[in-house]
Amino acid sequence: MFDNDWQNYSVETQGVRAGQHRTPENEHSDAIFPTSSYVFSSAQEAYERFSGKTAGNIYSRFTNPTVSAFEKRLAVMEGAERAMATSSGMAAINVICLGLLKAGDHVICSRSVFGNTALMFKNIMQKFAIETSFVDLDDLNAWRSAVKANTRFFFLETPSNPLGTVADIKLLADLAHENEALLIVDNVYCTPALQKPLSLGADLVVHSATKYIDGQGRCVGGAVVGDHALIEEKIYPILRTAGHTMSPFNAWVFHKGLETLSLRMEKHCSNALAIAHWLEQQPAVEKVYYTGLKSHPQHELARQQQTGFGGIVSFEVKGGKENAWKVIDETKMISITANLGDVKSMITHPSTTTHGRLTEEERAKAGITDSLVRLGVGLENIEDIKTDLNRGLASL
Ligand SMILES: *Cc1c(COP(=O)(O)O)cnc(C)c1O
Repeated sequence: MFDNDWQNYSVETQGVRAGQHRTPENEHSDAIFPTSSYVFSSAQEAYERFSGKTAGNIYSRFTNPTVSAFEKRLAVMEGAERAMATSSGMAAINVICLGLLKAGDHVICSRSVFGNTALMFKNIMQKFAIETSFVDLDDLNAWRSAVKANTRFFFLETPSNPLGTVADIKLLADLAHENEALLIVDNVYCTPALQKPLSLGADLVVHSATKYIDGQGRCVGGAVVGDHALIEEKIYPILRTAGHTMSPFNAWVFHKGLETLSLRMEKHCSNALAIAHWLEQQPAVEKVYYTGLKSHPQHELARQQQTGFGGIVSFEVKGGKENAWKVIDETKMISITANLGDVKSMITHPSTTTHGRLTEEERAKAGITDSLVRLGVGLENIEDIKTDLNRGLASL
């Protein structure tokens, strides 16, 4: 079947079927190709490959069949022409920066992005004379007034982590395009199972495959997804030379992870919604942040953009840091870790971990209080998750 045909299937089917590279052995599960280089039948063939006269594998920093299979499947699921796998989510963001920016350029980035993403722009890109303005994710006027003649792209995550603020992707894509800039969306929180930013006007999607795409906490990887020409001409040449490449072993794990992605996301969402409703009723809980709740100010926008609300629920515990830590420490099953996107439920205190390096003022601006607890809701039985949270909550 031609790859293009997969566009006519639903995302669940695409995840299971698209991008399989079957060898003459007729294996049912995908083969894995752990090879660093490839053999040519003659000096003439080697010459033709190297000079680009004929297509084909040369070296696994450039192309690898297992990596390509993962790329094809992810591209189809995002509704894109091309996906390019990278060694991590941060490598995906870095290769985009190196591919699209030069000294003297300007970027606008949401204030509510993954901590290392902010550092990439603030510390690393700044060394190369690339300036970044940070704005509030849901403040369209702030994005508008931050635009400069040299703005190359907007960068955001939606919904944001940990508070679940939602950006209007369509409006921001229009604003970026009116100013000859691109919109880049980090789709880690939703994955293509729940949200397709490219169909709403975004130009590129970024993934940390480490999270829900793997889904079982085994490998680190990432991807850049979008327009074929943009990736092929501006971004892939950087990966080819600078080596942001994904390993074939990891690509195989992610490729298999995509097969169960829709199913897992459905359960992450239903467990998260049930926990959010339950938390709202607990006397020791001050406030719950989850876009799936009707009480969330952007519930309607989330419903329009997403087919589900994701697996992250944050809540404020009455009594500040002491009680927030108590809820965390009283758990017996839930893992105390700052990761997300795993079958195992995870709990963390953002203000002293993921957001601990921000100044107090920056944390206040981002709405990260000392009472806040973030929960990455896993796939355990919902009653067991409630019981575990209730050990601390009921004692307050
Ligand atoms: C984890 C994460 C990243 C970075 O991905 P790595 O694979 O850890 O490099 C980027 N964005 C978001 C939203 C993430 O959660």
